[in-house]
Amino acid sequence: MDLRLAIKQKAQSLGFTFAGIVPAVPSKRLGAYFDWIHKEYHGKMGYLARPDRQERRQDLNVILQGVQSIICVGLDYATHSIPQEIATDPSRGRISNYAWGVDYHDVMTPRLKELGDWLETQIGDYDIDHRVYVDTGAILERDHAESAGLGFTGKNSMLIRPRSGSYFFLGELLTTAVLPYDSPNLMPSCGSCTRCLTACPTNAFPNPYVLDARKCISYLTIELKDWIPWELRPLMGNWIYGCDVCQDVCPFNRFTQPTKEPDFYAKNWDYAAPPLLELLTVTADSFRERYKNSPIYRLRRNRFVRNVCVAVGNWGSIEALGSLIPLLEDDSPVVRGHAAWAVGKIGEKRGKTAVLEAIKKEADSTTLAEFQRVMTTFFNK
Ligand code: SF4
Ligand code: SF4
Repeated sequence: MDLRLAIKQKAQSLGFTFAGIVPAVPSKRLGAYFDWIHKEYHGKMGYLARPDRQERRQDLNVILQGVQSIICVGLDYATHSIPQEIATDPSRGRISNYAWGVDYHDVMTPRLKELGDWLETQIGDYDIDHRVYVDTGAILERDHAESAGLGFTGKNSMLIRPRSGSYFFLGELLTTAVLPYDSPNLMPSCGSCTRCLTACPTNAFPNPYVLDARKCISYLTIELKDWIPWELRPLMGNWIYGCDVCQDVCPFNRFTQPTKEPDFYAKNWDYAAPPLLELLTVTADSFRERYKNSPIYRLRRNRFVRNVCVAVGNWGSIEALGSLIPLLEDDSPVVRGHAAWAVGKIGEKRGKTAVLEAIKKEADSTTLAEFQRVMTTFFNK
């Protein structure tokens, strides 16, 4: 059988939804990427701007000496849609669909390794070298997948497959083997549609196809390690891990079929959109127990509770004060500060008294400044 087809069949037999093969040449959008870094749209993801990472993007040989080919694979993750009344319930935290199940790295990485081992046997060369990437390397993976004819780049900067949408993970097998390649297909485009650009809650697209990560809820809830900018907190609604808005509104996602991967389904809707109150009392141990197999585990407890505090502030219910006030004495300064913001947003006398008490005890200067800002902003003091 034709090797190109055999590789695709093997990828599908391993559970991947699709695969494409391209020569290992640098992305044609490298210039736009460096411009994006230059404008500092990457925010505090300093690793993206590191000289060694930039070098790897320009020359894939730095990642794998003698690399010739990239096999790009995709795996659908969209499950059944969350019921609207649950998604819009402000007393629940929203989690991006991709994180409802087990960690995709754990699902995809062994399969890509198996694909690499199989490739060696197929071409009868055990000296070929390969390297596997799942969202961890310095690779502009969407561009390579686009070059392989697997989709087109939408104005929301996602790779879109015309007949199935954008809810999929990408992974790559870099190999020193020379392979038969795919070529870009004739693709549709966004045309005059601007739905994603206008639907974004934080206005994170300065231009079509350009994402200012510093404003994106996915960055704020996952990548950003410390303080979420005040002006963005009210815009985050009840998202506590990622955000799906610019994909949910995309007309190409009307064609999405639920994934066949059972591991990506939420155990129940309380997992996809958990009640916020129970998350405010999460400890390091209970967080580990709850999320140890999930991509959410990477956040660790403090960043997660920080996000929950913002969602609770946006909910604004006095029901939450009883669980928020103890967090003003949390071990994490970031949790203390965001809890104070949520207390201020709720705005009850009991909350004001609690923040005033917390000010007397606060030793960390940044957190103290947060507390004082809460007093002046929400309690006129
Ligand atoms: S993920 Fe959400 S916040 Fe980020 S760009 Fe898309 S709609 Fe905006
Ligand atoms: S919502 Fe419209 S503009 Fe945005 S990616 Fe989808 S088709 Fe393109």
